[in-house]
Amino acid sequence: MFTERKEVNAMGRTYKTVTVMDIDFFNTSMNAFLKHIVYPDLANGNKCFIVTANPEIVIETRDHPEFKKVVQSADYVLADGVGVVNAAMLLGQPLPERVSGIDVMYHMLDHAAKQGYSVFFLGASEDSNKKAVENAEKIFPGLKIAGRHDGYFDPADESIARMVVDSNPDIVLVALGMQRQEGWIADNIDKFDKGVFMGVGGSFDVLSGKAQRAPKIWIKLQLEWLYRLIKEPKRIKRVLRVFEFMLLHTPVVKHVIKMFGFNKTRPRGKS
Ligand code: UDP
Repeated sequence: MFTERKEVNAMGRTYKTVTVMDIDFFNTSMNAFLKHIVYPDLANGNKCFIVTANPEIVIETRDHPEFKKVVQSADYVLADGVGVVNAAMLLGQPLPERVSGIDVMYHMLDHAAKQGYSVFFLGASEDSNKKAVENAEKIFPGLKIAGRHDGYFDPADESIARMVVDSNPDIVLVALGMQRQEGWIADNIDKFDKGVFMGVGGSFDVLSGKAQRAPKIWIKLQLEWLYRLIKEPKRIKRVLRVFEFMLLHTPVVKHVIKMFGFNKTRPRGKS
């Protein structure tokens, strides 16, 4: 969980990252990320893999080395959670703000509709996927839909990836849930010549109206996780992992970890 500053080169610029538990978070605001990275990448037909990582994802990478490699292979990892932003602050290298995946998705859809970029919607249940696409077309008139497919398929089924490649999308949004979606992107991105790829978790369910995002006041009070927990009590296990993350980043615990040398990198066994 200790930090050093690394650099990411993108579009001829050098950006700093903030490392939280071996994950290099891109040090950017939402607007700068869209304006300086995503929109130029789209305009130039560059391929890129975006991971929006919350504390739960960070903890998951610690426990699953293969998943960690996938997240580390992304071009940009964004801090999608106040927990990550707070951890970076405690590490003395503040990130400007939370950059949430669902907001990046909405901005990208808006930009795509205005600039004529096409989008593939991969993931969620058939109903939710269909409705999400219909709503996206209503909210963002003129949006080009490259294609869509629900997220309940065998990841080894090559025909799904082939279908997405053949639709020649500029943007590929993948809503298969944490790990599965990042894994799918990492496994298939080499088959594409271009495209901005991003895992969007439950965002199609919000776009379709199947799930509600927390009201603004909950988000402002940094309680979006609590709102989701109330709506979906079965998320309790996942929320406990967020607490684990927060605990690991409290100054007292950090100090104890440092004092006893628990911060040394050790090889981990397979999970
Ligand atoms: N999902 C899917 N295929 C699967 C498992 C899940 O398409 O095999 C979808 C699910 O229907 C939901 C999204 O992935 O729309 C996961 O949402 P969740 O809120 O769990 O996202 P996370 O918090 O894992 O990012």
